This record gives sequence, C-alpha cells and structure tokens, in this order.
Amino acid sequence: MAAMCSVCGLRKAIVYQPHTGRALCRECFIEDVRSRVKREVERWKMLEPGDKVLLGLSGGKDSYVMLDILAGIHDPSKLVGVSIIEGIPGYNREEDIVKIRRHARDLGVDVVVTSIREYTGYSLYEIVQRARARGVKHSPCTYCGISRRRILNAYARMYGVDKTATAHNLDDEAQTAVVNMLRGDIIGLLRQHPLSPPMSTGIVPRIKPLRKIYEWETAVYAVQMGYPLQETECMFINRFPTLRAVVREELYRLEEESPGSLLRLLESLDEALEDHAKRLSREELPRCAKCGEPTSYNRRLCKLCEILEEAGVEKPIYSIKQPPIFLTRTSA
Ligand SMILES: [Zn+2]
Ligand SMILES: [Zn+2]
Repeated sequence: MAAMCSVCGLRKAIVYQPHTGRALCRECFIEDVRSRVKREVERWKMLEPGDKVLLGLSGGKDSYVMLDILAGIHDPSKLVGVSIIEGIPGYNREEDIVKIRRHARDLGVDVVVTSIREYTGYSLYEIVQRARARGVKHSPCTYCGISRRRILNAYARMYGVDKTATAHNLDDEAQTAVVNMLRGDIIGLLRQHPLSPPMSTGIVPRIKPLRKIYEWETAVYAVQMGYPLQETECMFINRFPTLRAVVREELYRLEEESPGSLLRLLESLDEALEDHAKRLSREELPRCAKCGEPTSYNRRLCKLCEILEEAGVEKPIYSIKQPPIFLTRTSA
C-alpha cells in the first residue's frame, strides 16, 4: 500500500479503513480513534468533570486502548483500574496484568489486582469443576461473566466511584445486540443503550467508551502504540459453541460484504431506542438473601450466590481489597 494518507495527504498510509473508504497514516489513525471515543463519551455524557471512574482492565489490547484514551480525556488521578485473575490453568494472566499495571502507573493510574478466588474463595476452574461434579452444566463463560461483572460492581460501590468503564468494542456490542434480539430480550437490548439508567441503586452506572470502535481498530491501535497484542487464550474458548459465536461469524461475513454494517446497526439502535431507554426506571431491586447484593425479581439469591451454591459453595467469602489512597480521600 503506497497510498498517501486520505486525511493529511502528507504521510504514507499504514491502514485502510473499510467503513470510511479512507487510507490513514499512523498519526491520523490514532487521532481518528481517539476523537471518535471522545465524541461518543461526550455524546452520551458518559463522564462528568470530577467523576471517579473504575476501569475494568483485563490486560488485553482493548483495555490498553481504553486506559490510554480515558487517561488522555479525563483526570488520571480520578481513574482506578481493577484487574481480575480468573484462575484457569494454563491461562497465565498474571503476566498480562503486571504489564498493564506498569503501563497504567506511567499514566498516573493505580491498578488493584484481585482474583475470583480472592473474592469468592474459589478460582473459576475450581467452581467449574465442582459444578460439573454435581452435574450442573453451565458454560464456563457464564461463571466467568457473572463473577467478573459482580466483582467490578462490588469494587466500584465499595470504592465510591461514579462510573464503571469496560472496554467492550463495537464488535462485542453489535454481537450482544443481535443476541438480545434473537432471544427476544427487549429489556436487555434497551439496557445496552448508553442512556439507560442503572437497574438498581446498588449498581454503579456502567460506561463503554469504545463501543463505536471496531475490534480490528483496537488491534491496529495497540500495535501502533506498542501494546501487547498477543493475548493469552483461555482454555475454555471455542469448546462451547454458543449462539454468540454463531452471531459473531455471521456479523463478520456481513461486515466484509458491506463495510460499516456493524457501525450502522449500533447507530440505528442508538437512535431508535433512545427515548425508550431513557424511560426505563431505576428500580429498587430485591436483595439476595445470602449476600445482600441486588438480584432480579422472583429470585431469592443473586446469580453469583446461586451458581456458587450449585457448585456446593455454601458460604462465599466475598472479600474486597482496600482502595488506593486517593479514593479514600474526600475530594471536591
Ligand atoms: Zn495522515
Ligand atoms: Zn448473593
């Protein structure tokens, strides 16, 4: 590709962006991604000045990109990262997490490292094994997703932050939207909208600053910035063909045939659902009989207590680390 950059016309293009039909140089590409994230954050007022924000940092490329951009558009001293080690044999995430923690420190952001075992008393693998032994067969991704969401929210609440940010990209969001539609889960679809209120006072508002950035773009961004791209692959991946995996393949095919499809899909939903999403109420959800966390109606236990109970864990410990110093200070 010998073309010059479609934006500046000064430098050689390093990447072709199918959804805009432009070829971009390194600088213009990085700037394009940053400004689109900033625009999305401003469009939905995801961040107010002074907001304390907890970032869920997996150590993967998307979490680097989110950290990098948020530290550039928001006061880094108001940001804190939380990294969760799942505890899956051969999935050595400790190294990934050491790296992102070091990088975050350079940007002025503290990162707290915890694990599913530290929080519940059992690693993800142990929970899955125990459940299997008792004949319960959820996909490991179910346990993982429930635990991670819960741990992030528990930390966010205990640390008194205003928002929780996760690095979901456009591909993730489009897949979730289609899965919600195929399952007929209208509320789930509305809850995805950036203006939908949190479900309960016990749930800290969640933001997804990268929701309009393609996954391939976070990969190129990471490579260009020198962030690790090679993610350790989870042993459970691909072993459980889910509806999401089918949707992912179909959406990639569609995107290839008609570049910009995922972006247009999410844009249309943003527009069409805005009024409905805003009208969702923040309900006072019932509390789990065991741990006191919010749960859905007609449920005695929260999802985490329920899957742990199925796995034979009667008394999860639910322990949380002390917050970094800055969060304990009362600030203006
Ligand atoms: Zn350029
Ligand atoms: Zn519970």
